[in-house]
Amino acid sequence: MPLVSLRQVLDEAAKGGYGVGAFNVNNMEQIQAIMEAARETKSPVIIQASRGARAYSQDRFLYHLMLAATELYPEIPTVLHLDHGNSPETCLSAIEMGFTSVMMDGSLLPDGKTPSSFEYNVEATRKVVEAAHAKGVTVEGEIGCLGGIEDGHGAGLDGLSHLTDPAQAVDFVKATGLDALAIAIGTSHGAYKFSSKPTGETLKMERLIDIHKRLPGVHLVMHGSSSVPQDLQDIINKYGGKLKPTWGVPVEEIQLGIKNGVRKINVDTDSRLAITGAIRKVFFEKPEEFDPRSYLKPAREAMKKVVALRMTQFGQAGHANDYKPLSLETMANSYAAQPVAV
Ligand SMILES: [Zn+2]
Repeated sequence: MPLVSLRQVLDEAAKGGYGVGAFNVNNMEQIQAIMEAARETKSPVIIQASRGARAYSQDRFLYHLMLAATELYPEIPTVLHLDHGNSPETCLSAIEMGFTSVMMDGSLLPDGKTPSSFEYNVEATRKVVEAAHAKGVTVEGEIGCLGGIEDGHGAGLDGLSHLTDPAQAVDFVKATGLDALAIAIGTSHGAYKFSSKPTGETLKMERLIDIHKRLPGVHLVMHGSSSVPQDLQDIINKYGGKLKPTWGVPVEEIQLGIKNGVRKINVDTDSRLAITGAIRKVFFEKPEEFDPRSYLKPAREAMKKVVALRMTQFGQAGHANDYKPLSLETMANSYAAQPVAV
């Protein structure tokens, strides 16, 4: 089956009351890990690439690996999503390349660092919505600024500096006609999210619930939502790593979000930790090894394990065969039938 749109996958998730993990990739092993986890758990899949990943993989490599994934796993609805597009041009180049979904992060200026004005964000996002919807491609926008930096993108603030204003979120959705909305509720990118275990209060779940009440039909997105499990940190540190103590977003808080309109959950750090721990273990225990397969295979397996666990925890497991994928052309026609209100 061809790549599907994010909108369809999230609409189905809303009907079923579950969330769908969006896992970042840079290379073949990560794509294979996610597709194997999806087959094992019978899950629909969102694979996302940041600008950094596109540069690292020269982007065409990534795209053709994704086509291979759809050939080899025809039973899995699979979305290819651009994570944190910094400008309309970046989003348009991804659409041109064959991405079926893009994030226009207009919460920051095109430098990817400086918080922007509301007016700039509306204009940039709306421009992408118009171009993307004409081709049936989905658009995620962001209002408020997330903490930390992801692949060089981010204001580097803590997660609480630019929380999403619920009233502004409503105006933003109306003015842009986007499909999914990333909100800032205290999460940050990277491994060092919290210096102690966060609670519902640290995470501003009340604000998320308020936004969902005002926008019940909008798919919410949680960024920076790796759980940074202690056991994966321990493996890295046991075999020579030097991670400082850190806490991620507890799975229970994500599950509370899913009960309140969160449909897409971005996870990258957990995969990175799993891969690095597995590679360190081989290097430590078998220093005579030099065949890359001897450490990439366990790395791929370790990532598959954590991804499969998240798919089960988010509730997407078992839903891969619930629906027939709609073509991008069908999606484009349905957008054309419901033009964006001005
Ligand atoms: Zn993000």
